Amino acid sequence: MPNTHYSDAEIAAALEACAREPVHIPGAIQPMGCLVSLDVDLGRIRQVSANIEEFLGISVADALVNEPRKVLGDELMDLLEAKLVKQDSSASVLTATAQGMQGKRRHFHVVAYPSGDAFVVEMECQMCPDGHRLLDKVNDWLVEVGKINDIGALFDALTQRVQELTGHERVMVYRFDEQWNGRVIAETRLPVAESYLDHYFPASDIPPQVRRLFDFNRVRSIPDASVPAVPLVPPCGPDEASPLDMSRGVLRAVAPIHLEYLTNMGVGASLSIAMHEEGKLWGLLACHGLEPRPLGADLRDALCALVQITMPRMILLLARADTDLLYAIHASNETFSYQKKDLFGADDLIQHQGGRWLELLDASGIALVTGKESIGTGALPAKENLIAMADWLSRHQGRDAPWHIQALGETPLAPWQEGDLCGLLAVPLPTESTNWLMVFRPEQRHSRRWAGKPEDTPMIRNGQLILTPRRSFAQWQDEVKGRSRPWRAIECRAAGDLAKNLAVLISSQEITQLNKKLESLAYSDGLTGTWNRYRMEQAIDAELNASGRHDRSFALLLFDIDHFKHFNDAHGHEAGDEVLVTLCRVLQNKLRPTDNLGRWGGEEFIVLASDCDLVGGMHLAERLRQSAEELDLGNLGGVTISIGVATWRREDSLKTLVARADQAMYRAKEGGRNQVKAEE
Ligand code: GH3
Ligand code: MG
Ligand code: MG
Repeated sequence: MPNTHYSDAEIAAALEACAREPVHIPGAIQPMGCLVSLDVDLGRIRQVSANIEEFLGISVADALVNEPRKVLGDELMDLLEAKLVKQDSSASVLTATAQGMQGKRRHFHVVAYPSGDAFVVEMECQMCPDGHRLLDKVNDWLVEVGKINDIGALFDALTQRVQELTGHERVMVYRFDEQWNGRVIAETRLPVAESYLDHYFPASDIPPQVRRLFDFNRVRSIPDASVPAVPLVPPCGPDEASPLDMSRGVLRAVAPIHLEYLTNMGVGASLSIAMHEEGKLWGLLACHGLEPRPLGADLRDALCALVQITMPRMILLLARADTDLLYAIHASNETFSYQKKDLFGADDLIQHQGGRWLELLDASGIALVTGKESIGTGALPAKENLIAMADWLSRHQGRDAPWHIQALGETPLAPWQEGDLCGLLAVPLPTESTNWLMVFRPEQRHSRRWAGKPEDTPMIRNGQLILTPRRSFAQWQDEVKGRSRPWRAIECRAAGDLAKNLAVLISSQEITQLNKKLESLAYSDGLTGTWNRYRMEQAIDAELNASGRHDRSFALLLFDIDHFKHFNDAHGHEAGDEVLVTLCRVLQNKLRPTDNLGRWGGEEFIVLASDCDLVGGMHLAERLRQSAEELDLGNLGGVTISIGVATWRREDSLKTLVARADQAMYRAKEGGRNQVKAEE
């Protein structure tokens, strides 16, 4: 029956019903052991499992009326009382011999725990008398794990060791994703078992209440999925109606729905051990036997130890990979600044190191968006789209953490997504509220192989949709589209580090630019943009020094606009200003890069020509005079200039040199203006 007949709400309700299944109070146990529940002060036996005689040689009826010491033996009772005195509420694993009323002495593996107002004792016969053999295996693993430096190899080795120890036909490591779907990431199996490697199991296979059980009871062993459960007698404790909570134990009977599930999968025995990362359920070690497979309590404990030893190694290897990434990002920036030595900006860094960052972050494009500008490298959306996205982010996202998404198409940013660039990690720059570092990832299309089609056998019971376990585990595929690879926390952190780095570069670049601007304000004339008098005096002093040392001449041309007062009077002061600007621009263009023009005051200017003698200076002055004369000012007519030329003498100071040029300029005025005169 296709599940499209059911609404999402109906399916959700069915999943919820499944999640309410009271798996912790089945009122029965699996037959691999027996159970005795006592008053919490151990004074009286309340319930026993129906198979107690098999283990302790005492009938159910006798067990329920006799002293606990008679039923369980002195050795075990002493241990339990000692535990009670310690007021330890966790489950304890004990070993003890017990004889029962008329039974022979046997070694038992005991799990004891308080439950409500009862105290529960679960007993299994010890199957493996040479416990030190298992201890050796655990120690071997401890040594082996320390030598493995790759997470894949770690889990491959774990499944191999477990398979060798238990003989299960299929041993898997099964990792949860964010939706609690499990994916098989490592597997060791015998040829008779089909492979589930890379298969997904839907989240509903392990409902929330079962996941919660794994938080305090790490192991679930079902050595025989076909054998009937053994009821507790009486079904409830004598004084209260609620059935016994067996969450902390190991014998708890299996929920019928789970047995059906195992049967449909072709599994006769199952063992699951929880794998936690920093207190959170991370995955499971899952073992399947095709036939029932007895599993001793000691071996079960040893397998738990193997998993416990494995997880810190995994966390260490993950942390190592994380540190490597951060280190590589820092190294790429540092190498660049070392090679560069001189000042460089954010754009230089992106241009030269962007490619390396893309490699490290496994991304296709990276861009820095600053207000209405963007720089970047790799495959990116068009500039206007980048800016639009940054704008949206600035208005809608907090600035304290990176924002990341695998499927841009499902966000308000969808209109600006381009091509298959559907993964975005956006990091706000700490400085400016509109600046973002944006990292893009392409779609990662992949098909998921599911172990059977999730929810493929809905059934109606009492007019309601209920979920039954999948009947077929035949492989079923679905395709994941429009999503990139997810962004790992460490990748967000690495991009955050990059953003900080770029922010520092941007602000130092801004400071450099500001300094340049202040400098030019201090050194240039506000109207014409030529050097101001202060700057010109500095330059003349510098030339005087250099010429003294290298014995080479330079020329100083001083010119003044002719009858400029009349010009102002005729056309207005503003027109006069404009002429000053135009004249300076035109004359500036006539100069060599080593010559400089500066405003000396009013409509008087100096040209400082390095490495130039009097003849050269006169030539230059004549060229400038002509240029001024030829300048077409439209209806304003034209202007002319008078120029005096002086060249360096060894005894010169700023004052004497300028004075000679000034005298020459006055002689040009006296001579009729619009002419050039050399010093005398
Ligand atoms: P000449 O130099 O040929 O003897 O005559 P002149 O009229 O140019 O000489 P004078 O020194 O008498 O006048 C200089 C004029 O230049 C006075 C002032 O109005 C004008 N001037 C000085 N600085 C500026 C300025 O920044 N803008 C404008 N529009 N005019 C200026
Ligand atoms: Mg003048
Ligand atoms: Mg003047």
